[in-house]
Amino acid sequence: MPPNVDPIPSGVVFETDTQTSDLGLAKDVSKLKKATPKKHEYVWTNIIWFLFLHISSVYGLYLAFTSAKWQTNVFAFAVHLMCAIGIGAGSHRLWTHRSYKARTPLRILLMIWQTMGFQDSIFEWARDHRTHHKYADTDADPHNAERGLFFSHMGWLCCKKSPEVIEGGKRINLTDLYEDPVVMFQKRHYLKMMPILCFVLPTVIPVYFWNESWLNAFFIPTILRYTIGINVVWSVNSFAHKYGYRPYDKSLNPRENIGVWMICLEGYHNYHHTFPWDYRVNEHPIINMLTPTIVFIEAMAKIGQAYDLKAVSPEIIKQRTLRTGDGTHHLWGWDDPEFTERLRRQYGTVHSIVGDEIKQGKHE
Ligand SMILES: [Zn+2]
Ligand SMILES: [Zn+2]
Repeated sequence: MPPNVDPIPSGVVFETDTQTSDLGLAKDVSKLKKATPKKHEYVWTNIIWFLFLHISSVYGLYLAFTSAKWQTNVFAFAVHLMCAIGIGAGSHRLWTHRSYKARTPLRILLMIWQTMGFQDSIFEWARDHRTHHKYADTDADPHNAERGLFFSHMGWLCCKKSPEVIEGGKRINLTDLYEDPVVMFQKRHYLKMMPILCFVLPTVIPVYFWNESWLNAFFIPTILRYTIGINVVWSVNSFAHKYGYRPYDKSLNPRENIGVWMICLEGYHNYHHTFPWDYRVNEHPIINMLTPTIVFIEAMAKIGQAYDLKAVSPEIIKQRTLRTGDGTHHLWGWDDPEFTERLRRQYGTVHSIVGDEIKQGKHE
């Protein structure tokens, strides 16, 4: 029997979803955010697996500092970076958001790196992430941040998907993924490719090429690297949905979090949820120049492997910031006369106390 749920979209995934001239939804999405209390059905295999990974990682970290060869640590970091680009530039910006197009050789490379990161196949990853954007911070969001920091970080993977999440996922258009032979190839062969790329090769390569011990090779570039990789992506869903400013749209939970960006290469999450089809991390050129995922996409564009990169125009960003931002934008924030004028129209005479409350994100 189909579940008796009817999720209501609270966010946009593509430009075609937008309803206002500044590319938003024509409704107050802050009223849609919710987490209906429910009893979770635990997935014990995942819980035990995560416990094993995190406890073993502590041992991996100890080995990295005490007995590993330097080549092993460098190799672990290189594998981590490849996985991060496979997920960030691949399953996220290319396949979920279609923020640029890629030729087949690049799609194959990104598919291999994405498989190495073992965070579900591209097809499942993109479906879940589109569901996250379209139903952000509601019951249909797979990692609904309204359920708390732990749930949005890893708790959602420790229990079964709710009927709302399943229904939300069914309403997502996935035609483009079905039509991509690289995505479909990976989907068909995922369970054969993933163990080799994520666990076997990162363990065998250090032993074979620089005579590393099996213990170090297994616990550092494989277990520790993988555990860091999943926590990096989870942190965007958890910390960047809870801590930081919201200069572009204060009705959304996702925030600009420089700490998450420094560790995760993503984290300007208010910008990303406001304009998800933008291939950049945010509008600032220097931040993009310092983000390996974006540098990679731009380098691929230079050699013709990536094309049709999409970026939102500064004028649209300004319009949106002035209409829905929280006043913390470096140019069009609280001290900008246009921003103050908007507040005056909205609230009447603006007293300093209202300004302080808005600066602190209390006045919503
Ligand atoms: Zn998000
Ligand atoms: Zn996204």
